[in-house]
Amino acid sequence: MKVFRSPEKLSIAINRIKQNKKRVGFVPTMGALHAGHLSLIKQAVKENNTVVVSIFVNPAQFGPQEDLKKYPRLLKMDLALCRQAGVDFIFLPENKIMYPRGYSTFVNVEGLSEVLCGSSRPGHFRGVATVVAKLFNIVRPDVLYLGQKDAQQAVIIARMIKDLNFPVKVKVLPTVRGNDGVALSSRNAYLSDKEREDAVVLSKALLLAQSLIDNGQRHADRIINRMKELISKKRSARIDYAAVVDLENLMPLKKIKPGCLIALAVKIGKTRLIDNIIIREGSGKWGQNYFSKIKIGKK
Ligand code: AMP
Repeated sequence: MKVFRSPEKLSIAINRIKQNKKRVGFVPTMGALHAGHLSLIKQAVKENNTVVVSIFVNPAQFGPQEDLKKYPRLLKMDLALCRQAGVDFIFLPENKIMYPRGYSTFVNVEGLSEVLCGSSRPGHFRGVATVVAKLFNIVRPDVLYLGQKDAQQAVIIARMIKDLNFPVKVKVLPTVRGNDGVALSSRNAYLSDKEREDAVVLSKALLLAQSLIDNGQRHADRIINRMKELISKKRSARIDYAAVVDLENLMPLKKIKPGCLIALAVKIGKTRLIDNIIIREGSGKWGQNYFSKIKIGKK
């Protein structure tokens, strides 16, 4: 496994691989890797000749009051996990390499970036789209691996790929959860033991939504109300949003339909957590894999 800090050197190495017509899989991360990241990495290793993982806590996607400074950084462990998983190249750029003095170019995926997490985190998805576009130009991947946990991010990146003609195929893999149902997240490290117990309420609310739908409920507002009622029972929980939206345009839906996204953002104490499910008719536990049927961003 080779670690690159320079975009130019990584690009040269990638050029060599591309000349041999090898497939490059790419997993962008902010590090503090957990089993969710590893499921993407392992899939990428299975399906590609060369796998690149970037580890970059991207300042452009954090608001001024957010957790950029305290975001967990566990580089040694991350590198060991990547090596073990069979990663070929790590890209580990510094802030000043990605955003040198005078940096002025940003990618904004309009509309999709302003709803759900975008409304409480203004500028967040502009930062995400910008860094991913830059990483595409450096890594030139054939296949990009993303997690369903960040469903809005996946929809936005798929839109950007289509709009800007990046020759990249997107694969969105199911959310990996702890035994308690909590979606794995690097930010879970901020939770106290009690808060971790309370955090289970997000996945419980989504399971409640799923079971209401399985029993015939189709009114989005009734489902949202039941989810909110459940979450509000936890004193540490403050709901940012609970929404039923169309997965392709992220617009609110009045009625449940196959392929809709039920998404939650809830603050547990000071930690903002997100989770979601995608509803399929007669779906399995988490409505997994529906992303593969969504048309946006496909080559
Ligand atoms: P992050 O390091 O949080 O920027 O995440 C990097 C990638 O890992 C993104 O595509 C995330 O959606 C994905 N990811 C994060 N948590 C999970 C999870 N619990 N299950 C699956 N993928 C995840």
